Amino acid sequence: METYTIAVLAGDGIGPEVTTEAARVLEAAVKQAGRTVALREALVGQAAIEREGAAISEETMALCQRSDAVLFGAVGGAGVGNPNSKQQPEQALFRLRKDLELFANLRPVRPYPALVGASTLKRSVLSGVDLVVVRELTGGLYYGKPSEIRDGVDGKGASAVDTMAYTEEEIERIVRYAYTLAQGRRKRLTSVDKANVLSCSRLWRRVVDRVSADYPDVETRHLLVDSCAMALIRSPRDFDVIVTENMFGDILTDEASMLTGSMGMLPSASLGLRKTAHGHQFGLYEPIHGTAPDITGQGKANPLAAILSAALLLRYSLGLQRAAGAVERAVRQVIAQGYRTPDIARPGEQVVSTREMGAAVLGALTASKKE
Ligand code: NAD
Repeated sequence: METYTIAVLAGDGIGPEVTTEAARVLEAAVKQAGRTVALREALVGQAAIEREGAAISEETMALCQRSDAVLFGAVGGAGVGNPNSKQQPEQALFRLRKDLELFANLRPVRPYPALVGASTLKRSVLSGVDLVVVRELTGGLYYGKPSEIRDGVDGKGASAVDTMAYTEEEIERIVRYAYTLAQGRRKRLTSVDKANVLSCSRLWRRVVDRVSADYPDVETRHLLVDSCAMALIRSPRDFDVIVTENMFGDILTDEASMLTGSMGMLPSASLGLRKTAHGHQFGLYEPIHGTAPDITGQGKANPLAAILSAALLLRYSLGLQRAAGAVERAVRQVIAQGYRTPDIARPGEQVVSTREMGAAVLGALTASKKE
């Protein structure tokens, strides 16, 4: 029987709460598909800094390297740690993305009809929205050097510098990824940049124009990031695949999460070109939200983004399409049945805890047919 190895890095804040539920659902879905999975837990983020001296240890990196996939929670400031320290929890994610060459971050956004009322946007704006943001993940402002705060000299105040840099190759591989994805969808690609101001964006646009000739079946449009931020709220149905650089993608997907009503609903897959021992795509899967220090340890976190991330893991890294579909159906079912964590509940609606929501999905999954 085929056995998969998954590194489970729950991290900080609500990371462990939501990842526990996602890991349970993942295990059950793999079992239903007649396979076995070994879940290997390791520390990451602030927890790892405190216990192992680094945001991610060499052992944990090695575990990830030999796994089929990484199921990740969230890392970062739960009001602990020193913001001036050289050891920051987020370094774990940056290292994982860079060392594992996970350059493509896919963030599907499809509001659930039963949850339309949880969004601040009108039902008429949300119906029919089905888009994917493809965010470049290993370049741009988050990796460029120099990036530092410089002490002031000669009586001048301190200064700071960050660097945005992209190579043509980095842009081309993510753009091709997005085009291929668009070919399997509604064949509309929106490339988002800030070409009126940034050199990186002008190169980005030049590469998109060149590469677009290889995908004549896909309609291409360019949009400035500020304009895109507006259009995402005004007419989100107009989008199919959005491709953009690292920081723009980071910001736009938080905005897009509001189309689904909550940060707690949006999963993501980080992929590259690396194959697993079983011949599938290696990847890292995580909810798009952070550690949510304001609700940590209260059983209020919505585990659905983490569970939906596990569904993406089943699809891309284990090749278990039907198991992935079964998890997504189980999530749809519990939402339709009215299960609501506080973030997606309307005033007066009864709410369930993180654990109860996880158990409801598990129940719906195990009640469904075997793959
Ligand atoms: P956040 O995503 O943690 O929280 C934003 C808001 O959304 C909060 O009100 C929070 O309660 C709510 N929220 C988030 N996830 C939720 C869930 N599953 N269920 C219900 N409500 C949810 O963003 P933030 O507050 O800006 O950041 C907190 C920390 O997380 C920071 O240290 C940040 O660096 C870190 N962070 C980490 C990641 C990651 O690990 N990938 C991503 C984003 C932020």
